[in-house]
Amino acid sequence: MIGQSVFIIIIVFIALYVILPFVITRILGIGVIRKGENSQEVAFTFDDGPNPVYTPLLLDLLRKYGVKATFFVLGEKAAAYPELIRRMQREGHLIGVHNYTHRMNILMPPWVVRQDVKRSADVIKSITGKRPHYYRPPWGIFSLPDLLLIKRYTFTIWSVMSFDWRRDTAEKKLKDKLMRQLAYTLNLKKEGAIVLLHDCGNTWGADSEAPKYMLLALEKVLSELKSNAIHYVRLDQMTLASSEMHDVNEAVELPL
Ligand SMILES: [Zn+2]
Repeated sequence: MIGQSVFIIIIVFIALYVILPFVITRILGIGVIRKGENSQEVAFTFDDGPNPVYTPLLLDLLRKYGVKATFFVLGEKAAAYPELIRRMQREGHLIGVHNYTHRMNILMPPWVVRQDVKRSADVIKSITGKRPHYYRPPWGIFSLPDLLLIKRYTFTIWSVMSFDWRRDTAEKKLKDKLMRQLAYTLNLKKEGAIVLLHDCGNTWGADSEAPKYMLLALEKVLSELKSNAIHYVRLDQMTLASSEMHDVNEAVELPL
């Protein structure tokens, strides 16, 4: 009897703590930015860096094609490579928060998540002089308390995901996958695309060399899209649906 009660409590806990926020954010898109309103806009976003090898190469590539992007950086890596954060800022990119270390929010108590995000934001602010407003948790996974606690950030997920963190995908299929998904999002769904990519592969489940192939694929994508009338925007420049703009406006700068 006790065993059955414990089982029910665990199921209810998982449903409320993990599945409900997943449905709210990933499926219903409530409280998060996940797409744009203008089908000529593409927002490239890069998670898990900065990385001393791949991030400089990525910044060179973005500069070559005149692309402004958004970086969701880990606090510990920002602290280790502040010059790369300064370069991102200098070259006109937007910097957002991706936790201090690459840990899943649902495996940490909500108050630890809050401290982790604040610690990251403090590191970014100490380097750039600006407090970040955009937040994407590792794997895009929120717990229910995160949605209530972290009111000051604009939660961001994505509309184009291509498994670029796997070396096999990045090396052989990434360019075609990205082109297909961009065409589907921009031309068929008539939406602006938020593209998830990674400039560091030193996280759980990723291949450390994957960014090398992501860079090769991205260069081909940018080269092929060159003649199209696409605007590459940072997340704060993206045209959003009114429901999503509401979330941006709510992200006010309050001391934690
Ligand atoms: Zn990540």
